[in-house]
Amino acid sequence: MRVKAVFPGHYIQGCGVIGELPDLIDKLGNRALLLASKSVISGIISGYPDVFSLRNISVDKFNGECCHKELDRINGKIRDLGIDVMIGMGGGKVIDTAKICADNTGIPVIVIPTIASTDAPCSGCAVVYRENGVFEEVLYQKSNPTVVMVDLDIIAASPHRFIVSGMGDALATWFEARSCYRTMSMNECGGHSTGAGMNIARLCYDTLLEYGLMAKIANENSLVSPALEYIVEANILLSGIGFESCGIACAHAVHNGLTILQESHDYYHGEKVAFGVLTGLHLTGSSKEEIDEVYSFCESIGLPTTLADIGLDYRDRMQLQKVAIETCKPGSSIYNEASQINPDTVLNAILMADAMGRQRRKKA
Ligand SMILES: [Zn+2]
Repeated sequence: MRVKAVFPGHYIQGCGVIGELPDLIDKLGNRALLLASKSVISGIISGYPDVFSLRNISVDKFNGECCHKELDRINGKIRDLGIDVMIGMGGGKVIDTAKICADNTGIPVIVIPTIASTDAPCSGCAVVYRENGVFEEVLYQKSNPTVVMVDLDIIAASPHRFIVSGMGDALATWFEARSCYRTMSMNECGGHSTGAGMNIARLCYDTLLEYGLMAKIANENSLVSPALEYIVEANILLSGIGFESCGIACAHAVHNGLTILQESHDYYHGEKVAFGVLTGLHLTGSSKEEIDEVYSFCESIGLPTTLADIGLDYRDRMQLQKVAIETCKPGSSIYNEASQINPDTVLNAILMADAMGRQRRKKA
């Protein structure tokens, strides 16, 4: 069997690690371009004048969308200014833009997530949208980011909904890895999973169960604690390696299906993925014990367990049927599950996930 796993070059996490950025830039090149949103520039970067006012860092304001127009603009800047180190600081779209531009121009990229809401920072792929925000394509880079730098002071100060959503994305990692392993499906980097990848995915799930609630409480109080450190690592590093090197399945397929309904757009990626995890457990006939464990975890930290929690109505079968059909479209990762897959079985699993979520809430 041909196995494959991919990893970021360096992963640095801790309080105040942002202070290491000037030395890091010196090691990698001479002149850096830092891309960040307006709110990150005014809310975070302005708080570190010693780091970001250096002569060899040019700070550039992100236009808000990872689209071809913005990619062309940044690529032009890299050439015009003689940039040899790219930095993306902020959320998913800024980071993806930085990863693609660095790949296009053949320079190293430093990724600095300011929230722990998804597992995208460590991955070697990025999503491009049209200028109007509609999904266009996924681009794969030649390699994963050179450096991923996570400053815990910055993450602890971010609203807690982000870290909870990141735990929803991380919750999918083990279950999707296990599904791909069971069905001998390919992972996201074009091979079968390694033992390293599978153990990282399992560690990700165990870390969530053990420290998830305490990390949420720490984040609600803007505190850095060991639990917060473990969960930030789980959300960004373990989940990032896990999904890319072990594969995705039902949770992300259902997420993609849910995005066709406008009502779900106010909910974050990881929130919809979490509901997709519950759907996957019902679809594949997981044990009562396992299902209870996952629902209890979601309830404890406030992840969705019903359709109403992601803006949808379980009585609206017409709409949910559309979600099930979209989830089952050709090439979907739903086919990595060991189960009979068609829009009817998927719709039933979605409704069962919701019904059990409602039932448990009634009892509580
Ligand atoms: Zn995800």
